[in-house]
Amino acid sequence: MKKLRLILGDQLNSEHSWFSNIDDHVTYCLFEMRQETDYITHHIQKVVGFFAAMRNFAEELKDKKHNVIYFHINDTKNTQSLVENLSTLITENNIEKFEYLAPDEYRLDTQLKDFSSSLEIESEIFSTEHFYTEREDLKVFFKGKKQFLMENFYRNMRKKHQILMVDKQPEGGKWNYDASNRKKWKGDALIPQEINFDTNVEEIIAEIAKAGIQTIGKINPKYFEYPISRKQSLAQLDYFCSHLLIHFGDYQDAMHTDKIYLFHSRISFAMNTKMISPKEIITKVLETYRKQKDNIDISQVEGFIRQILGWREYMRGMYWMLMPNYKKENFLENKNTLPNFFWTGETKMNCLKNAINNSLDNGYAHHIQRLMITGNFALLTQIHPDEIDAWYLGIYVDAIEWVQLPNTRGMSQFADGGKIATKPYVSSGSYIGKMSNYCDACAYKKTKKFEDDACPFNTLYWNFLDEKQEKLASNFRMKMMYSLLNKMSSEDRIKIKEKANHIIEHLDEY
Ligand code: FAD
Ligand code: SF4
Repeated sequence: MKKLRLILGDQLNSEHSWFSNIDDHVTYCLFEMRQETDYITHHIQKVVGFFAAMRNFAEELKDKKHNVIYFHINDTKNTQSLVENLSTLITENNIEKFEYLAPDEYRLDTQLKDFSSSLEIESEIFSTEHFYTEREDLKVFFKGKKQFLMENFYRNMRKKHQILMVDKQPEGGKWNYDASNRKKWKGDALIPQEINFDTNVEEIIAEIAKAGIQTIGKINPKYFEYPISRKQSLAQLDYFCSHLLIHFGDYQDAMHTDKIYLFHSRISFAMNTKMISPKEIITKVLETYRKQKDNIDISQVEGFIRQILGWREYMRGMYWMLMPNYKKENFLENKNTLPNFFWTGETKMNCLKNAINNSLDNGYAHHIQRLMITGNFALLTQIHPDEIDAWYLGIYVDAIEWVQLPNTRGMSQFADGGKIATKPYVSSGSYIGKMSNYCDACAYKKTKKFEDDACPFNTLYWNFLDEKQEKLASNFRMKMMYSLLNKMSSEDRIKIKEKANHIIEHLDEY
């Protein structure tokens, strides 16, 4: 039976069982398409990364003697539409069965389900064999529960997969070392030169320009930094284990003007395109820990494993549990517009300038920059979640909707009313000052509130609590902040409102 098997750009799993046999009746197809480059404006490094990784993957399959059809972005045969490309190949090649891997994105899942049911030939969907969990697992795990706590899911995953467990107890005696993951980086722990692959991507950039694809951000055409093959992905993992794991947990939440990546792994692009699997990563991290127990503390290892075994799998499960309505949630009824400086980095607020410029320059910001700088500011200024989603989905090389949406709309913007985060992640300037050196060289002063040079976060924070009191005051975790707010004098509350309103109305002047 002649089969056509589709591989999407984020399904580059060379270890998949599909590839264990060479079968002359099977043809694999991969397409670079405007459908995918244009549904949002992506960072140039994201488009380049995807195309480069897809091309490498197709070449590897061909080298192993699989039949592969690959449409480059400017190929004349390429209709730029997934459905049309597939239909043409099915007809031209007398295909008798269509097979595809379960998309992680709702949009593509719907499109491929509809396409399959419109076909006259047989079709079948297969697992990507990438995640620890299946799509529907969280729905089952949280059935009948009012709260969907990540921590409960994470502990269950540790037990189920016997990761960092001794019998039925957590290794080291604690489930979670979050409290020891909050050090400020002051230059004490040395950060080695980051691993870069320096791939020349001039040709791909020229093809993207020729196609007329709109992108954001910068790229160095001669030195592309992210892994674009399985070999490079494995090298990135090795590098992390040998040089960065040792301090990962300690400085996980730290931010610094001179160090963009600190001890973060930068493995998300490789993992989200499935060039490397979460299991491989966790296995290697555990192996490193076992060999170097005298050097590496369990808090570093648990902190890292929690991100992948816990947060990553949890976000995916929540996405599939809550879509499609999740994409429309706006619990706090925010409706403002993102300031222009999110696309230029031109602001006097040093924390935002750094986080946004890192994002524009590298398609990267680490978790705390995304959550407590850009996300925090967007929430405090009450930006509409649709605008925030579009920015996050476009700007990061690792941004794919299944992981971006629950992180942004849920975790960061509390637009789901608390399904993912138990309280809104908002802070005044003091948290940012505690976790970074941003405030040292800022035009604003983190200790001031009302003066012209007062840190904007300080009034925005209290104004946000004030404005959203009706929606948030009953939240147990917000009780203390509301009791402080309600003890403030009415004059101070008026001054806060005036200052915050001025900031919100003149965002691009700050
Ligand atoms: P490390 O800090 O080294 O962590 C290791 C791995 O853990 C990451 O590669 C990632 O796969 C996983 N991880 C860590 N935190 C999370 C999380 N909250 N959710 C899921 N996985 C996690 N991650 C994405 O992959 N794509 C996104 O589009 C994305 N959008 C985000 C938006 C917001 C508002 C926030 C707060 C977080 C977002 N994250 C996203 C999670 C996290 O910021 C990135 O995974 C991480 O910064 C990637 O860099 P790294 O590989 O160096 O991560
Ligand atoms: Fe950001 Fe305020 Fe610190 Fe400036 S003073 S870096 S605006 S937190």
